[in-house]
Amino acid sequence: MHTTETATRSTTRGAGLVRGPCLFLPATAVSQMLGCWLVLAALAMALCQTGQAQEAPAAAPPAISARSGAALFQDVRIFDGRSPALSVPSHVLVRGNIIDRISSSPIIVDVDDDVDVIAAGGRVLMPGLIDAHWHAFMAATPMPLLLTAEPSYLHLLAAREAEATLMRGFTTVRDLGGPVTGLKRAIDEGVSIGPRIYPSGAVISQTSGHGDFRFSFELPRTPGGPLSHSELAGVAAIADSPDEVRLRAREQLRLGASQIKLMAGGGVSSPYNPIESTQYTEAEIRAAVEAAENWGTYVTVHAYTPRAIRQAIRAGVKVIEHGQLVDEETVRMMAEMGIWWSLQPLTYDADVFARMSPASQEKALQVFAGTDSAYRLARKYGVKTAFGADILFDAAAASRQGAYLASLARWYTPAEALKMATADNGELMALSGFINPYPGRLGVVEEGALADLLLVDGDPLADLELVADPDRNFSVIMKDGTIYKNTLPR
Ligand SMILES: [Zn+2]
Repeated sequence: MHTTETATRSTTRGAGLVRGPCLFLPATAVSQMLGCWLVLAALAMALCQTGQAQEAPAAAPPAISARSGAALFQDVRIFDGRSPALSVPSHVLVRGNIIDRISSSPIIVDVDDDVDVIAAGGRVLMPGLIDAHWHAFMAATPMPLLLTAEPSYLHLLAAREAEATLMRGFTTVRDLGGPVTGLKRAIDEGVSIGPRIYPSGAVISQTSGHGDFRFSFELPRTPGGPLSHSELAGVAAIADSPDEVRLRAREQLRLGASQIKLMAGGGVSSPYNPIESTQYTEAEIRAAVEAAENWGTYVTVHAYTPRAIRQAIRAGVKVIEHGQLVDEETVRMMAEMGIWWSLQPLTYDADVFARMSPASQEKALQVFAGTDSAYRLARKYGVKTAFGADILFDAAAASRQGAYLASLARWYTPAEALKMATADNGELMALSGFINPYPGRLGVVEEGALADLLLVDGDPLADLELVADPDRNFSVIMKDGTIYKNTLPR
């Protein structure tokens, strides 16, 4: 589709190179190759024309029969994502994918208008939940299966889990690693059901870092040699040196990542790195930061320790994932510099613990022990804090995504916890800048915001546990103006 434009520009530039969509040819070779070039140009033109209609085939049946036109929620009390109190009885009109009107007096709609009227009977309307640290590809699939099964099968499992995620009331996830841009596309096109996805693509890790899941017999790697299994699968990109990190970061952006994720320190589930390790150098991290910032977005890092966190911040990183082993001085620095803390309520879970290797169990105990002080420090210094569940390889744990949110009650009031998982997380999503895949306000119930809404049977500001049982307590789930669940009597 850009062929004509590109060809025109290349003739005016004329600096010894002829530039086609995929070609850089020395000018001297051009005359001999003109015939060949014309064939290639025609092919490129055809490919680009195909590119003009890169939607799912029109014949594909819609994945759902849900209505998506206009909807009127009558008689709701609103948790707007920010205020600690519910609104007075109100009425909310959704048109298309936008919250069009909110009023305490009845909203009259034309009978010809084809509006889905939802008599909410005083139930609570709140923003759809946002999980700021999710792995759509890996949350519910056991690690041995991820390492051995066909990719097509694994992607279908991920699609099934994405639907379950939406049905838990999570209308948006920030995906912190895994090949999910295809899943995101299928969901956005209505081919598959699931939340909005802010993808990071492959996690970028140094050799022996938290993203290096290669077997020992795969080392040493021949420079320029074939990629390992997890790299080919798009789960991890192993990169050493600023140049390699820059290349891999740009590849993720090319594939549609909305932010870049680096492993900047040791992890629990990875076998070849101590949890205390600092990963990457400042120069390597800065290479990714430059690539991301040139694309309008940011780098977030996996890091637990003060040393790893501080190095990342010095390199320009805007978000820290985890950070359970942090010290007070580093938290103060995060607050002063406006760094986001994407923190998970990782506490002892007997089921999850039982499935870990002994080495991982030892590391997990350190992290569990740090969770409590991390939340207390985050509160004490007023660090911008995001909620994320970060479930890996475990379908049962993934099904408890809402329960992880409810567990924030140990440190926060229900209103504070829900604000974190809605309005605050929505603010974090917007950090993806001009490549934000869903521009518009997320995580709030306000006129003009994107219509991601939950109708709750009960008051979540009085009882946070309601979000732990979405099947029972969420009467309506709407994403992008489309109703995916409505259990109210008609
Ligand atoms: Zn994670």
